Amino acid sequence: MVSLGCPKALVDSEQILTQLRAEGYVISPSYNDADMVVVNTCGFIDAAVAESLDAIGEALKENGKVIVTGCLGARSDVVLEAHPQVLAVTGPHAAAEVMAAVHRHLPRPHDPFESLIPPQGVKLTPKHYAYLKISEGCNHRCTFCIIPSLRGDLVSRPVGEVMQEAENLVKAGVRELLVISQDTSAYGVDVRYRSGFWGGRPLRTRMTELAKALGELGVWVRLHYVYPYPHVDEVIPLMAEGKILPYLDVPFQHASPRILRAMKRPGDVEGTLARIRRWREVCPEIAIRSTFIAGFPGETEADFELLLDFLREAELDRVGCFAYSPVEGATANALPGAVPEEVKQDRVAQLMALQAEISAAKLQRKIGKTLTVLVDEVDEEGAVGRSKADAPEIDGLVFIEGGVGLQPGDFVEVEIVDADEHDLWGRAV
Ligand code: SF4
Repeated sequence: MVSLGCPKALVDSEQILTQLRAEGYVISPSYNDADMVVVNTCGFIDAAVAESLDAIGEALKENGKVIVTGCLGARSDVVLEAHPQVLAVTGPHAAAEVMAAVHRHLPRPHDPFESLIPPQGVKLTPKHYAYLKISEGCNHRCTFCIIPSLRGDLVSRPVGEVMQEAENLVKAGVRELLVISQDTSAYGVDVRYRSGFWGGRPLRTRMTELAKALGELGVWVRLHYVYPYPHVDEVIPLMAEGKILPYLDVPFQHASPRILRAMKRPGDVEGTLARIRRWREVCPEIAIRSTFIAGFPGETEADFELLLDFLREAELDRVGCFAYSPVEGATANALPGAVPEEVKQDRVAQLMALQAEISAAKLQRKIGKTLTVLVDEVDEEGAVGRSKADAPEIDGLVFIEGGVGLQPGDFVEVEIVDADEHDLWGRAV
């Protein structure tokens, strides 16, 4: 470790060294004995920049394997212009990113306890797909929800750490990453979209930039729990270009402006419909999934009709609906006009029946098309998988005839021959 700069940089160096030691790396007093050099730079004034660039040059000459961190690292273009051979560049306070770079270029020494744990961690999902949690907590205060009181306000995970986890999962055989959080589109709001580092280059803590970077990993990337903010429009071109899956899970929750206001959710229903139309213009293939609540306190027949009208017009691909449930601690419980249980259940049934018709009509249009399918299960009757429009557990399935030799995790082209209101049937081609 070559540590330059002020006491704040020194503390960063100490944290990196502490982590290195905790993981079993040994710190060497000379370039020659080291397998790698971390240079913690200063970029305060021109003289400090020159000193930092000299130190990087010396480490490259004497050792050859160099990771750059610290204040000058925040200007990675300056570092890379002078020393393009460095292995990675991170900004200040980036111990996690530095450790990720160290792990990439100098894998951890064997640890008899930790080495039993695979690099992707212990997963409960099948080997070929995995959930990638990017943040915890939520800044909204939807009146039916108690998540903010349980988990607090939004805390975004560092983008370098998220990308490292994604890379580890892909290396371990994951073919589909499902991005989750309470509010995926708010990713990075809490850290003012600060830049982190991944693969030696700066990367902003922001949904669009994260989606783009995940799209480079060569696997399916599916976005869940996207709150309908205007900047969500930015990810639709990535879907049209095939970088991430043309799939958006946006929980709209209702479509009566009055009920949306009572829920403390965005209430511009006409605007939402216009945006859905625009998304489809940009990416005709897009599958939109949403969830709704029926029987929210104060919901009248007229409000419920507005919700059904919205569904008829929006023609969403996948819909889930829950009867309002008065969770203890939710502020909505104090609202007047509680809806009787049987009315709630009746509305859920009406909504799901309408959606089944919409879904059946949409799936009929897929007959005759050839879709890429990710195989989930194989048994003696054939294989079962999912198209790009189907998330695991919650959406439909594709039942594949033929397909001898298919394995879970394989991608296969399937010609669709039949459909009902949820699932598709097809032949491997
Ligand atoms: S429903 Fe979602 S967006 Fe609303 S407060 Fe709960 S977690 Fe946040």
